[in-house]
Amino acid sequence: MSESIFTKIINREIPATIEYEDEFTIAFHDIHPQAPIHILVVPKKEIQTLNQATEEDTKLLGHCLLIAKNIAKTRQIDESGYRIVINCNADAGQTVFHLHFHILGGHSLQLAMG
Ligand code: 5GP
Repeated sequence: MSESIFTKIINREIPATIEYEDEFTIAFHDIHPQAPIHILVVPKKEIQTLNQATEEDTKLLGHCLLIAKNIAKTRQIDESGYRIVINCNADAGQTVFHLHFHILGGHSLQLAMG
């Protein structure tokens, strides 16, 4: 299977505004932001959707959440509030089949449940 667009970002084959990176994850700005702050946290391991995550990925998924929390603090939306979203498959509107966590914040999201 060909590599995902996010793997291309990880491999620096296409550009992105990178917010954070470590051995297991990368976080970069969404190309079509839905909020003033819209950052994607992506495990470097290619897991297509949450449905493909296994016990083996427990630590990785927890790590992604903690990275998201740290980014929210760095971007100073931890106190005002933010939303973490994982879209899974068609009805949720998943368009990139490489698991990722959206961080959305910087304004009120209360009316924006989609
Ligand atoms: P999904 O709809 O799969 O949950 O989210 C995919 C997200 O990836 C979308 O919000 C979309 O704007 C973003 N996206 C798609 N292609 C690119 C890209 O090439 N670069 C960046 N930075 N974001 C992308």
